[in-house]
Amino acid sequence: MTALLDIENLKVHFPVRRGILMRQVATVKAVDGVSFSVDKGETLGLVGESGCGKSTTARAILRLIPATSGSARLEGTELLKLGGSKLRQKRRDMQMVFQDPYASLNPRMTVFDTLAEPLVVHGVARKNSEVEDRVRHLMLQVGLSPGYMRRYPHEFSGGQRQRIGIARAVALKPKLVVLDEPVSALDVSIQAQIVNLLMDLQSELGLTYVFVAHDLAVVRHVCRAIAVMYLGRIVERTSTDKLFSSPKHPYTQALLSAIPVPDPEREKKRKRLVLLGEVPSPLNPPPGCHFHTRCPVAVDKCKKEVPNLEEVEPGHFVSCHVVKERAGLAPDLLGS
Ligand code: SF4
Repeated sequence: MTALLDIENLKVHFPVRRGILMRQVATVKAVDGVSFSVDKGETLGLVGESGCGKSTTARAILRLIPATSGSARLEGTELLKLGGSKLRQKRRDMQMVFQDPYASLNPRMTVFDTLAEPLVVHGVARKNSEVEDRVRHLMLQVGLSPGYMRRYPHEFSGGQRQRIGIARAVALKPKLVVLDEPVSALDVSIQAQIVNLLMDLQSELGLTYVFVAHDLAVVRHVCRAIAVMYLGRIVERTSTDKLFSSPKHPYTQALLSAIPVPDPEREKKRKRLVLLGEVPSPLNPPPGCHFHTRCPVAVDKCKKEVPNLEEVEPGHFVSCHVVKERAGLAPDLLGS
């Protein structure tokens, strides 16, 4: 399997400026040395609480915000160094689906104009009849009636608006699509329909996805691999099966313990790991392991030394002093 997307040591730091002279007084390390790769046609889940840097990572890869350093290669092409026309050309291959479909669609543009724009800008369809055929096909592909193509975003439901957003993202048959919390703003009843649509489009068009989510339950059935982020760093990365069957990082264990189990008997007996406190501010993260202020098994070393993300079992990467010292064994926080 070949990696379509390769991210190495990606950093996105924002200067904090204050005073009349706007002097830099601090730095927010929103993304601080993130590495992962995604194979062609696969989906990687990027998961963590709000403010962990997952959406910033996604936006930096797509060049929507500048990265501070590191590397992001799409089929071997370094995206972070591209400029001008080369970047514009490459944008065709990488698209994004946003969380709020209403905010991401121009309220003054009809569905036809919204979907026709990328086709015309990139010269994919020129004649009016050609553009209309493509728009018609795109609408059918995402389960919308082409009869609605002259309508405006406010005339659609949230789920339908997200379908329009998805149609726009796949209009140019991109290689990579970053899905930034694509179902979080939708009713639970609609979420499964949109997830199924995304999976159908993936197999139909051979798309590669990075699926950003705050909820592990959402990505479980969609992703082959998952990277869990906490305050700008990846704390655990492995296949979805391994992450759910033997989570090693205390933070991952806490996230998993929050997912309800459908069987009421098992749900009653289940041990939950409730984390105390909020995620610390990225402006002033705790030293050493960023998680030590909330970690139930933290040791002295955790307050001073940053744990590296290390392979503790084949294909299973964890950033934790305790897991490393116990030769890859996870702390038994949930009971076996
Ligand atoms: Fe907890 Fe220490 Fe491991 Fe961080 S390094 S997760 S604080 S045990």
